[in-house]
Amino acid sequence: MLSEREDELGARLKEFEGRAAAVAGVGKDPVNAPMIRHWCEAMGDTNPAYTGPDAIAPPTMLQAWTMAGLSGQAGPPGGTEAFGELLALLDAAGCTSVVATDCEQEYVRPLRPGDIVTFDAVIESVSDRKTTKLGTGYFVTTRTDVRVGTELAGTHRFRILKYAPTPRMSRKGRKEGPSSHRRPRPRPVVNRDNAGFWEGVERGRLLIQRCTGCGTLRHPWLPGCNACGCLEWDTVESSGEGTVFSYVVMHHPPFPAFDPPYAVVLVELAEGVRMVSNVVGVAYDKVRIGMPVEAEFRRYGTDAGAGDESPFVLPVFRAREGS
Ligand SMILES: [Zn+2]
Repeated sequence: MLSEREDELGARLKEFEGRAAAVAGVGKDPVNAPMIRHWCEAMGDTNPAYTGPDAIAPPTMLQAWTMAGLSGQAGPPGGTEAFGELLALLDAAGCTSVVATDCEQEYVRPLRPGDIVTFDAVIESVSDRKTTKLGTGYFVTTRTDVRVGTELAGTHRFRILKYAPTPRMSRKGRKEGPSSHRRPRPRPVVNRDNAGFWEGVERGRLLIQRCTGCGTLRHPWLPGCNACGCLEWDTVESSGEGTVFSYVVMHHPPFPAFDPPYAVVLVELAEGVRMVSNVVGVAYDKVRIGMPVEAEFRRYGTDAGAGDESPFVLPVFRAREGS
């Protein structure tokens, strides 16, 4: 049940719907080949549409052209005070935490090097008060319309949850402090694009997607081929053999399910694709680039106190002897 005060806050928040979050913003840089190249390299996107004299920008870069960068601390170019006021109101009501929940984009016209991007953003909606696993708060959705001249290039909807965090409760209803037992390993996020991979892992098989158009192997799983655009694919089973292509040693920030320091590795499988995982059977400070490793499958979520969710399997890599 809502208290009168919460109801009053809800009504004040609703008044922000339709107010501008940015007016006549101008992209910091025109659409340009170097930013496109960096994006494609970071994403591993080799689609030929993004290079050459007729290159277009990857559609998913839409937001990148509107961002203020580190020097734009006062908010986005063209930003209004309304959005800041809305956030301040939520902060004052105890909704001091924020998490970006999702983003939806629509593409209307391709962006090309030389295009100068302008944009307007509006606070499209503020939800009713919602209680989530993270806490209780409000979803705030902004919609940015990106234009070149008078032409709409695309829209970008961005949703955040501003919430008052709930203290974590154990199964016995006791508040968990820093000294409580380690929390269970996070489960993989399984979606319709990668479900086949995780089904394979459950059966102890490492499946790599293969484009049936051009034969290119890919990992992580995606709906289409970055090399030829083909949407048809099958799978090949990896031998599980590979080498450490790169690694980092995690010290900070701490995650409740992990004991730092530990190594996170990028394994290059013998078939050529790379996969983020952990190495087992070797101390974190003995992991080296080029170290030969072999996949194995570990079941998690079966320890006492690990929670009541069903167990699941994750692929890890064992350092091969003599490395
Ligand atoms: Zn292909």
